[in-house]
Amino acid sequence: MVAMSEQWLEKSKKYLWLPFTQMKDYEENPLVIESGEGIFLKDISGKTYYDGYSSLWLNVHGHRKKEMDEAIRKQLERIAHSTLLGAANIPAIELAEKLIEWTPPNLTRVFYSDSGAESVEIALKMAFQYWHNLGETQKQKFVTLTNGYHGDTVGAISVGSIDIFHTVYHPLMFTSYKAPFPMVYRHPSNDPNVVRDEALAQLEALFEQHHEEIAAMIVEAIVQGAGGMHIMPKGYLKGVEQLCRKYNILLIVDEVATGFGRTGKRFAVEHENVSPDIMTVAKGITGGYLPIAATLTTEAIYEAFYGDYCELKTFFHGHSYTGNQLGCAAALANIALFEKERLIEQVEEKAAFVAEQLATFTELKHVGDVRQLGLMCGIELVRDRETNEPYPWTERIGYQTTLKMRELGMLTRPLGDVIVFMPPLTSAIADLEAMISIMREAIVATT
Ligand code: PLP
Repeated sequence: MVAMSEQWLEKSKKYLWLPFTQMKDYEENPLVIESGEGIFLKDISGKTYYDGYSSLWLNVHGHRKKEMDEAIRKQLERIAHSTLLGAANIPAIELAEKLIEWTPPNLTRVFYSDSGAESVEIALKMAFQYWHNLGETQKQKFVTLTNGYHGDTVGAISVGSIDIFHTVYHPLMFTSYKAPFPMVYRHPSNDPNVVRDEALAQLEALFEQHHEEIAAMIVEAIVQGAGGMHIMPKGYLKGVEQLCRKYNILLIVDEVATGFGRTGKRFAVEHENVSPDIMTVAKGITGGYLPIAATLTTEAIYEAFYGDYCELKTFFHGHSYTGNQLGCAAALANIALFEKERLIEQVEEKAAFVAEQLATFTELKHVGDVRQLGLMCGIELVRDRETNEPYPWTERIGYQTTLKMRELGMLTRPLGDVIVFMPPLTSAIADLEAMISIMREAIVATT
């Protein structure tokens, strides 16, 4: 008789098409998760794994958190969903009030959605229509950074620049101006200040030439996540904000990956005291429980859409599940837990421990760079540490390393040859130590 776990594996291969996954890889190494508890995931064979990537960067408190489960159950007893199109609901109102309290003071309006990519689509459409509604219809272009990632829908990929994901769709995409991301790793100067000043000068040159047609600039908040965990040099994001103000360009900051404590602040913009005109949040907003996202904006932008219906200023965007009550209740419970457990205050100590441990990785022969902000970390594997020569991408060293980590009891997904370490913020120091030890063993074994 075929074991039950075998049946699930077979059916997963037979019926599913997994996101961002080459199914041939999956067929060779299938995995079906059965349950989760705290910072562990369990597969259908009963094997447990550290959730080293917070189930794709969102599970803040770990799994089966009592307060989260209860909040969702409690909401379920009232109602699961009613539309937000033309009719508000209580959890959506309460959450909006809380998000406004949590984010920079100039952000006073909340527009909901269901995923990070959609929150970005909304940000782009909102910025575009803002200028349109003001009569400045020539402002139609976006500026984005090289190596950026903002989601996988057509608008989001149009402002993204990770070639391996995006090139095939070029004919579908609108064009945007690309400014260089201030990438310190592999830069000839190796001085973050030089890299910052050079990138800001290039950005200003672009603004000078094209500002009249630019609606907005979109950037990830301090850390470029999917692009390989690259961290902006200090002062860069503030410099971008100042240039946007100088040239009358809206600033959209994408906090989808960095928000909700991940970098050691509620939002990464706080590291530089930046006040975006539009900010996107998702992932950690419900602590990894339900798909809610939000785009926050200023009163000035809100007012540009306000008027009689026949003026045609309305923001025509919204999905069936926008502002779903269960999701909003989960987000409220998540934020309440942050406040009760003083989680963000704990990130600093945990991050310092991780930094100390990861510093020893630079002794490893094939570790080219270790990058970290808060509990958002990337370890870049290279063929030659002296020259930073990468492995040929066809060797898939990052993938092989994470497969080895899986064997050793920890899950994560690589970004090319960058190993991602983004544990739940509630991980204890001993757990962090155990996860780091698994990463080290896997790197040594595969490189
Ligand atoms: N923006 C950033 C910065 C992200 O890192 C991601 C996902 O990783 C997204 C947007 C897209 O979010 P989602 O996967 O929820 O659509």
